[in-house]
Amino acid sequence: MNTKYIFVTGGVVSSLGKGLTAASIGTLLENRGLKVALQKFDPYLNVDPGTMSPFQHGEVYVLDDGAETDLDLGHYERFTNCKLTRLNNLTSGRVYLNVIENERAGKYLGKTVQVIPHITDEIQRRIQDVAAQSKADVVITEIGGTTGDIEGLPFLEAIREFALEVGYNNALFVHVTYVPYIRAAGELKTKPTQQSVAKLREIGITPHILVCRCDRPLDKDLRQKISLFCNVPVEAVIEEKDVDHSIYEVPLMLQRERVDEIICKLLRLDVPLADMTHWQEIIRKLIAPQHRVRIGVVGKYIDLQDAYKSVYEAIIHGGVANDCGVEIVKVDAEEIEKDGPDRILKGLGGILVPGGFGERGIEGKIMAARFARENKVPYLGLCLGMQIACIEFGRSVLKLEGAHSQEFKSDAPHLVIDLQEAQKKVTKMGGTMRLGSQETQLKQGSQAARLYGAFVVHERHRHRYEFNNDYRQRFEAAGMVFSGTTPDGGLVELIELPDHPFFMACQFHPEFLSKPHKPHPLFKGFIGAAHAKMHQR
Ligand code: GLN
Repeated sequence: MNTKYIFVTGGVVSSLGKGLTAASIGTLLENRGLKVALQKFDPYLNVDPGTMSPFQHGEVYVLDDGAETDLDLGHYERFTNCKLTRLNNLTSGRVYLNVIENERAGKYLGKTVQVIPHITDEIQRRIQDVAAQSKADVVITEIGGTTGDIEGLPFLEAIREFALEVGYNNALFVHVTYVPYIRAAGELKTKPTQQSVAKLREIGITPHILVCRCDRPLDKDLRQKISLFCNVPVEAVIEEKDVDHSIYEVPLMLQRERVDEIICKLLRLDVPLADMTHWQEIIRKLIAPQHRVRIGVVGKYIDLQDAYKSVYEAIIHGGVANDCGVEIVKVDAEEIEKDGPDRILKGLGGILVPGGFGERGIEGKIMAARFARENKVPYLGLCLGMQIACIEFGRSVLKLEGAHSQEFKSDAPHLVIDLQEAQKKVTKMGGTMRLGSQETQLKQGSQAARLYGAFVVHERHRHRYEFNNDYRQRFEAAGMVFSGTTPDGGLVELIELPDHPFFMACQFHPEFLSKPHKPHPLFKGFIGAAHAKMHQR
């Protein structure tokens, strides 16, 4: 079978959930027995998002191969079983860097190097590379940004040419747009959608499917109006209403609107209907869980929706595994510094300290780890959250006064967290951390080994600092178990406290491997323990 291509663009405003729509289409096609691959094009000039603050661009999502990517790739991996690599996220910065390097190497000798065809060809090559590498039946490509942005034009031109090249039964365009409700008029308005489709048609792209984001149902008349003005068949005008409970409802919503059926018809894909029974069961547990639990996430980007995206999702998956609805309480670490932990953290079933960089809020996180340890509240520390737990244990249990991490206080008397040896010669910031999937060996009899049901696991990393082995014996003598290390034993990967109902922390990022249909064992264990803790009151 020929590879088929779906291009997802967005109009009117950003933050419409284009990534979720692309991922949900992936879910439906995968459940029709097709192999899918998803990729994201981002029109900014950073070579990858690895050097951007979460304030700029939300979470940086890390892949097995160590690529630091856009958070939409997290949706792709959570909603489908496709394996992503650094090929699946392409920024304008990367495109230009490749083209300019080629130019310097003399690959275009004699020619004027231009946006069309050199930049557009480079973009198209990436679509082909993903198709070849994934061997997918359907490659779904999401174009970041909003139609009409200057930055996005080369990507739109590239996909227009690409679709022409592969032919119209092999490629189609899905445009995600916004149909706002205007209170003064008391109705939904289609003009922004008309204008954004007109923008697309100006550059030669006619969408086949319009996914209309709205906060209330799109009635028949509106659908007909959009169809008429936008030149899209009425059955391909799709309502995508704000979800009531969970983003995982989106695939079911799109299925009800027959999106997958329309896609299969247009792309001549003769495949069975999608069986979404298991997905419906997940939604059932999300909407009407048997139990409830409150989890505090103590961080510094608490006001940002997207900064800890994968962490929040993995917590919810842990809830699904325990048939537990989770209320996530977002706690600003600096508030704990001001008010102390007792009032803020009281009544939580579990406390999680996620990854992070920079000194702000560190003492508040240390106070949260101490509160969890002393009050026997389940604790899960991720990356920085493990380093924090070690600093706290060093200070409180071992009385190592002023224990700290080299990252925050390089002249501290006890650097229990130190720069990794391999990082000491690093001078450039982009893509130079310890990144990607690495092997961890788990200790026999540890809680970690019990939860994973394995002794060897692979987890994704993104850090420069590590536990300082000079302190390992002292920590062990005081009761900390180093339950996971690299195969040579050199680097601490997981710690736990056996005299505590659940106190675990890891140097890696388990949140990147959790899916609603495959909750991560550490999150499953954490939520289970948190539920037990809340019950005991
Ligand atoms: N800043 C810490 C380090 O570089 C932790 C990183 C993280 O939490 N991802 O080691």
